[in-house]
Amino acid sequence: MNYEQLLDKAFKELPTLSVEKSDFQIPVADSLIQGSKTILKNIDQLSDKARRPQEDIAKYLSKELAAPVSINNHTLEISAKVNQQSLNLKIENYFKTYVVCKECGKPDTKFEQRERGYVTVVCEACGARYTVKIY
Ligand SMILES: [Zn+2]
Repeated sequence: MNYEQLLDKAFKELPTLSVEKSDFQIPVADSLIQGSKTILKNIDQLSDKARRPQEDIAKYLSKELAAPVSINNHTLEISAKVNQQSLNLKIENYFKTYVVCKECGKPDTKFEQRERGYVTVVCEACGARYTVKIY
């Protein structure tokens, strides 16, 4: 058996747990640039998927993009020009850091004990608890 075949075999024998990890799809931004602003049209969807308030995601994006944001009529308005790729990177990072459990990969998490710049993330699927720096 050569190296590739061994690798192939190893992948096929991976436990199903690692397959489960990829079940959750991080949503992508539906956005457009209007003048000097960026309109994120699917904040409702992002908020639903993350199970976090829209204001929470708005606050994160504002900090990360160093720009004021506001929520109007189911859209998030960013007072800066942000292309969709950069916006998606931020959203992906938000989900990976604050939503998807780093133990089991499921998005069934909630925030607890938000204080002194940190938040405790609690996973309702596997019971994991860990602390991350908050925005
Ligand atoms: Zn978990």
